[in-house]
Amino acid sequence: MDKTRYEELKKMLEERKREILSEVQEKIRDVRTESNSGKKNEVLDSGESSEADIQEDIEFALIQMKAETLNRINEALAQLEEGAYGNCFECGEEIAERRLRALPFAVRCKTCEEAREMAAKRERLLAQRQQSTAMFFDI
Ligand SMILES: [Zn+2]
Repeated sequence: MDKTRYEELKKMLEERKREILSEVQEKIRDVRTESNSGKKNEVLDSGESSEADIQEDIEFALIQMKAETLNRINEALAQLEEGAYGNCFECGEEIAERRLRALPFAVRCKTCEEAREMAAKRERLLAQRQQSTAMFFDI
């Protein structure tokens, strides 16, 4: 991997990491303020409080999702250090930087991904056909 590409990809991953970190911190702050202000307010009726619970669950799920993304970015950064990040899993070619910016965890280049999708589609069609044939013989 040439140095420019390495620097660009590293910058891209680190920017994303910072973004997600600040989003997570913001969310955690939001959840905390909400539950604190909830206690100070008059007692909510049961309908309102379960709605708040659901909202809180959603917030926590979001935080969890972001934490997972953060883990994947850290893994990608470690792979980048080993020179193993940004290469296509199928053909070994470098994945275009533009594609990695849009999909930082892409493991295939565009060509291989499209070929895979085509193959998956064909397989689905074939499976459908086999299924209908089997049904035909059952009768
Ligand atoms: Zn490829």
